[in-house]
Amino acid sequence: MKLKSLKINEIEFLRKIEFNPFTKKYKKGMKKVALVYPNRYVGGISNIGLQIIYSKVFEHNAYCERFYYDVFDGIRSFENATPLQKFDIALFSLQYELDYFRAIEILKKGDFKGLKIAGGPAVMINPKPLTGYFDAFFIGEVEEKVEEIIEAKSKEELSGIEGVYTGKEDKVKRVKAKIGAHLPTEIVGNGVYGRCFILEIGRGCIRKCRFCVVRTLYSPPRWRKIDDMPEVKGVEKVVLVAPSPTDNPNFLEMLEYYVEKGFKVSPSSIRADTVDEKLVNLLHEGGLKTLTLAPETASEHLQELICKNITSTDILNAAKLSSKKFNKIKLYFMIGLPYETMDDVKGIVDLANKVKEIVGVVKISVNPLVPKPHTPFQWLPFGGLQNIKKGLDQLKRKIEYLKLETNKLRIDARIPNITEYIIQTILSRGDESVSKVLEKKDFRRLSKFLGEQKIDETFPWDFIDHGYNKNMLLEEYEKIMS
Ligand code: SF4
Repeated sequence: MKLKSLKINEIEFLRKIEFNPFTKKYKKGMKKVALVYPNRYVGGISNIGLQIIYSKVFEHNAYCERFYYDVFDGIRSFENATPLQKFDIALFSLQYELDYFRAIEILKKGDFKGLKIAGGPAVMINPKPLTGYFDAFFIGEVEEKVEEIIEAKSKEELSGIEGVYTGKEDKVKRVKAKIGAHLPTEIVGNGVYGRCFILEIGRGCIRKCRFCVVRTLYSPPRWRKIDDMPEVKGVEKVVLVAPSPTDNPNFLEMLEYYVEKGFKVSPSSIRADTVDEKLVNLLHEGGLKTLTLAPETASEHLQELICKNITSTDILNAAKLSSKKFNKIKLYFMIGLPYETMDDVKGIVDLANKVKEIVGVVKISVNPLVPKPHTPFQWLPFGGLQNIKKGLDQLKRKIEYLKLETNKLRIDARIPNITEYIIQTILSRGDESVSKVLEKKDFRRLSKFLGEQKIDETFPWDFIDHGYNKNMLLEEYEKIMS
């Protein structure tokens, strides 16, 4: 979980090549806001949500610097190596549960005494395991609330703000924002997509995949319109981001628009059933090198169970169509689903091998299912079996099988470390008791959060109103399990 720190010459290089249109000089009296991303710089700089917050802080006449875990251990800023202690407020963005460990380390090592507020998808799922570490949590899309939050002087003042949870509130309604006009300009740095302009073309998703939190956390789906596209300058590449970008009704036109203007363009992901000749040609013209698809499973009965609606036929069609222009495909799968057998796991290897025969190179990534809150899978046991020990043993056997068979077939496979997924499940489903063991990292007493949850269970995250009806999720769950 420890990430490699960047060397000072690497940090200097990143600073030198970064274009930052937002920053202003600090003036006496300005509130100092630390924007902390407890993960790698490449990820943080590619996150459009963080860029929006950063620009909003300056808009409201406050001052902001950014902190990344791999830059000075997250305790001195990227811009000026300013110590975290010198700031009045720290806004943490928590994208993944495993970021919790790094966030806590930053708070401790940085000896931060100001107001500590966390937001981001992991917090929107369930902030309870972090209650001992932060003054407040923000549940929702924060851009329209930045001013109120940075003006607050105490936990008590934060408590009255819509979307804020300080531990006292019985219910918190998620705050939704409009997908308004896009930032006309952005910080351009060396991120996960390279140097590019990141264009958000959608929030939420029209699909109902049963394992995915996007359907509830970011509802309703909102799309950028074709007449609301910023003019991009100073970069060669545009990345179109959304949870499922190809579902934007104007996706192809958007892609075409930037390709025709001579930009390299790629979407953050592609649904296999949207791949056709036109899309393949545009992606190729846009400079995409590898097609990434997420079938999740290769079996029809499990496809029905997860409701992703991508069949092996869709994957093979996409492989055939794209083989004319691409020679590499990356596939994402999950294991540990209920009713999953060794035949289903064998199906993953078979499908990957067929794709390899069509395109030449295939890379697969297989992750155990984390049964997440706010989804119909929130009652499921980790590993897919009622008996946790049996479920874990079975998962280990499946992983061994995948390692062996992909090796034999020379398929490049990224196979998981189960422990990380066990911890992720505990952190996403845990309550305040998890807070007490976060630093000790001794999760043995917390196995109750891994097991099958009772139908009438009141969950730690039930206090969040994301706008869905829990009974509807339960009906879906009972349908799957009957
Ligand atoms: S997995 Fe993808 S397609 Fe399915 S609901 Fe989530 S974002 Fe949408």
